[in-house]
Amino acid sequence: MDFSSDFTMTIDGEAVAGDATLEVVNPAQGAAFATAPDCSRAQLDSAVAAAKTAFPAWAATPEADRRALVHALGQAILDNVEGLTQLLTREQGKPLFEAKIEIVSMGKLLQAQSTIEIPVHVAEDNAHRIVETRHVPLGVVGAISPWNFPLLLSAFKIGPALVTGNTMVLKPSPFTPLSTLKIGEIARSILPPGVLNVVSGGDDLGPWLTGHPGIDKISFTGSTQTGKRVLANAAADLKRVTLELGGNDAAIVLPDVDVAAVADKLFWSAFGNNGQICIATKRLYIHESIYEPLKTAIVAYAARMKVGDGAEQGTRLGPINNRPQYDRVKSLIQDARENGYNFLLGGEVQNTESAGYFMPITLIDNPPDDSRIVQEEQFGPVLPLMSYSTIDEVVARANDCAFGLAGSVWSQDDDAAVEVARRLDTGTVFINHDQYLSPFAAFGGHKESGIGVEGGVEGLLEYTQTQTLVRKKQPA
Ligand code: NAD
Repeated sequence: MDFSSDFTMTIDGEAVAGDATLEVVNPAQGAAFATAPDCSRAQLDSAVAAAKTAFPAWAATPEADRRALVHALGQAILDNVEGLTQLLTREQGKPLFEAKIEIVSMGKLLQAQSTIEIPVHVAEDNAHRIVETRHVPLGVVGAISPWNFPLLLSAFKIGPALVTGNTMVLKPSPFTPLSTLKIGEIARSILPPGVLNVVSGGDDLGPWLTGHPGIDKISFTGSTQTGKRVLANAAADLKRVTLELGGNDAAIVLPDVDVAAVADKLFWSAFGNNGQICIATKRLYIHESIYEPLKTAIVAYAARMKVGDGAEQGTRLGPINNRPQYDRVKSLIQDARENGYNFLLGGEVQNTESAGYFMPITLIDNPPDDSRIVQEEQFGPVLPLMSYSTIDEVVARANDCAFGLAGSVWSQDDDAAVEVARRLDTGTVFINHDQYLSPFAAFGGHKESGIGVEGGVEGLLEYTQTQTLVRKKQPA
C-alpha cells in the first residue's frame, strides 16, 4: 500500500474521492504536503446509508466472527506499521518513535478488545421465571476523533462498536485525516462493505454527523467546548453519546520521593506527545520541602531534550500539531509573561508565519492558582510547577477544577499515595506510574471531562442497549 499519496474515503467498502479537497499541513514545516477528500453532505448521506444497510447482517453475524474480523484488522495494522508511522509523523508532528508506539498500540488494542466478552446477566432464575438481560447493538455509530492520537483514539471506538455488532462512520480531525483514511483502506479487504466507513472533511462535517438522523450514537473524543456542542446537537433525536473530553490533570509529589529518580518520569508525564495528551500532567504540585531540588532536576532534564522535526533522528519533542493550537499555547505563555511569572525554562516563542509550529519547553515557577496557565488546559509543552504544604491543601487545590479526567500521585509509600489518589475527583489516577490505559479497564472523565467511558466491559456496553427477556418457566 502507498502511504504517501492517494488518500480516499471509504464508503460502502469502496474508495471515494472528495467532491472537494482540503490541505493537510506538516506541522514541522508549517506547509501543506498532501490533500484529503472534503466530504460533501451527499457523500456523508451515502456513508450513513451504507452503514445502515450493512447493520442487520453485521449485527446477525456470530459474535465470534465479528471478534475474529476486529482481531484481523488489528493484525493488518501491525503489518503496516512502517508506512503508517512515517505518515502519522508527517501529519501529526510527533517523533517517529512515538508514532510507532501509537500504531502498534492501535493494532494491539483492537486485538485486546476483540477478547472482551459481552456479558449476559441472569437477574432471576426460580420456579416461576427466568429474567435475563442481554446487550444488543445500537445501530450506526458516528465516531469523531481528535488530532493528538488520531489512530489510537479511533481504535478505542472501532473495536467495541464493531465487536458489539454496530456499524460505523468514522471522522478524523481535519488536521490529521490521512493515516485514518489509510486505516479505512486497510479495512476494505477485511470487513464487509459498509461496516466501517471513513470520511474526512472540514468544520461542517462534525455537526452534520452529530445532527444526522441516520446515526444512533455519537462517540466523541475532543475538547470540552466541542463536546458540549456535540451533546446539544445529539439531543435533537436523543442519540446516545460517549464524550471523552479535556482535562487539567494534577500530579502530586509527596515529600518522600527520590528526587533524582522521579524527575524524568514527571517530565514525560507532562511532555509526552509534546504535552498534547488528554491525560498529561498539566499542573505539577511539589511538596515545599523538595520543591527547590526537584524543580532544579526537572529543569536540567528538560534542557537536554531536543525539540525538532519528528522525522529527524534524535528528536524527542515535535512541533505543536496545528496553527490554532500553537496560537492558543502561545497566548498562555504571553499571559504568564505579562503577569510577571518566573520562567524556569523557555517562554520565548518565535513569531513565525510559515515555519514549523515549534514551541520551546516552558516551565513556570509557582504561578498563582487563579492564573490562566493553572486554570486552563494548555495542551502543549508548558507546565506550571507549584509548591504545597499539606495533603489537605493540595487535594483541595487539585480538585478545585472544572475538569476531572485523571491525575497522578508520586511517593515511595504506596499506601500513602493510594490514600491521596482516592481523594482525587478524577476518572483515573496513576500511582508512581506513567500514563497507561488498559484495554480491560474503564477510562472516562468526571465533571466536565466527559460522559461515559471507553475501555473494558463498561466501554463495550456503551455501544449497546439492554434487552431484558422475562420468560415463564414451563412445567417440567
Ligand atoms: P476538538 O474538540 O477541537 O476537535 C475534536 C474533533 O471534533 C475533531 O474531529 C473536529 O473536527 C470535531 N469537531 C469540531 N467541531 C465540531 C462540532 N461542532 N461538532 C462535531 N464535531 C466537531 O478537539 P481537538 O483540538 O482535536 O483535541 C484536543 C482536545 O481533545 C483536548 O481538549 C484534549 O484534552 C481532548 N482529548 C480528550 C481525550 C479523552 O479521552 N478524554 C483524548 C484526547 C484528547
